[in-house]
Amino acid sequence: MTSDLEDQLRAVSLRVTRPRVAVLAALRDHPHVDTDTVIALVRADQPTVSHQAVYDVLRALTAAGLVRRIQPAGATARYERRVGDNHHHVVCRSCGAIADVDCAVGEAPCLTASDDRGFAVDEAEVVFWGTCPRCATEHLPEIRQSGRK
Ligand SMILES: [Zn+2]
Ligand SMILES: [Zn+2]
Ligand SMILES: [Zn+2]
Repeated sequence: MTSDLEDQLRAVSLRVTRPRVAVLAALRDHPHVDTDTVIALVRADQPTVSHQAVYDVLRALTAAGLVRRIQPAGATARYERRVGDNHHHVVCRSCGAIADVDCAVGEAPCLTASDDRGFAVDEAEVVFWGTCPRCATEHLPEIRQSGRK
């Protein structure tokens, strides 16, 4: 498992370091987490790693294309390992939960502008907003009660 992550670092010409491997492992097991969560996950294994080191690793991995950074409006930046397939995200308005949504087309831009105004469009940022199943269930009893009355 770990050597697999080391190979991924070498494939993009990044030096293999323990913090880099730890961040990749953390994101493999926990997609769509923010920086603080990544720091906590890495420190569970390597308590001496600094905040700054994790920030630097996230920046290097994102620049190298091993990690994708997403930032839904009003939310903190999240990171994930699933890169290169132009998938989208559905975000819960109540709790901020994020899930992957496959792109029907598979590559950017998957949405054709009705009028591109002469721009060469290479990306359409698509975020689906709604209520996650957990939040929807929490609100169900209220709806049922008011329905009975
Ligand atoms: Zn929710
Ligand atoms: Zn994702
Ligand atoms: Zn799409």
